[in-house]
Amino acid sequence: MRIAAITLLIMACSAASALARHGHMHGMSPRGGGAFGIVSAYEARMAAWMRREQIAANIHQAKNNVNRMKYAAQARQHGKMRLAATLYMRVALSRPKDKHHDEAKKALGAMADEGRKAMKAADELLQQDQVIEAFEKLDYLKWAYEVVPVFNHEIAQHVNKLHRDPHYQAVLNEPEAAKLLAMGRKHEQDDEACCAFLVYEQAAELVPAASAKQAGERLAALKKDPEIVAAAEECRTVRKCLDTFHRAELVKKSLPNRAQELFKQIVTEAPRDSEVRRCAAEELAKLHVRSKPRN
Ligand SMILES: [Zn+2]
Repeated sequence: MRIAAITLLIMACSAASALARHGHMHGMSPRGGGAFGIVSAYEARMAAWMRREQIAANIHQAKNNVNRMKYAAQARQHGKMRLAATLYMRVALSRPKDKHHDEAKKALGAMADEGRKAMKAADELLQQDQVIEAFEKLDYLKWAYEVVPVFNHEIAQHVNKLHRDPHYQAVLNEPEAAKLLAMGRKHEQDDEACCAFLVYEQAAELVPAASAKQAGERLAALKKDPEIVAAAEECRTVRKCLDTFHRAELVKKSLPNRAQELFKQIVTEAPRDSEVRRCAAEELAKLHVRSKPRN
């Protein structure tokens, strides 16, 4: 009798912990921001370069070739190479050709030579095994000199080829893979195997990094437990629905019909007891009231 009671107690506890493990994302409210997507390090760096060069604003300001040449020289002096090259290119391509045409072409030629020197310096870093630093420079050169004739093709070809080299890929992917691996381990410690599963999955894509291989091994181990696989798929669904909810919120005012579609999609796809489903149903009801004809 006593043993039975204890067994029952143990069963109840493990059921509760299983529920907590499966349902932890169910309670996640879509209100108050989210975004689970990981912006790649390269995209973040590119956005920073863009901001630094303020390209759109400066090009807009330069309304004639005199101004373009002036702004281009300033930009070049301040190391804003992409902006400088874009302005010189505008002058070089403008028709009818004016007195600035040759000067602009000459400047672009000089920029190409500078670019080649910088590329060589970056390659030397690579030879000293300073891989991350070298690629930071090389990626920047590819972006900054994208419109500089001839050199743009040379640098793009060179950088793309290096990016395909597995030795460099392993080094370059390692920081992100290590971060994800640590995140996955933390989820496992917190008894969130479903989230660990999804994070390891992301990390495993970053092969041949060492941490990516470790994440792949851990993922394979988790895949052996069908309960965890099912929980991970449910976790994935809830996360996707949270993402859809944010998209719907963004277009609610401008495209109410699109928002309605998205909220409906959540109501169909999200688990019945989830917070995101409840919120989507609420939003749907509000949209419905608003779209009713007044008479
Ligand atoms: Zn989860």
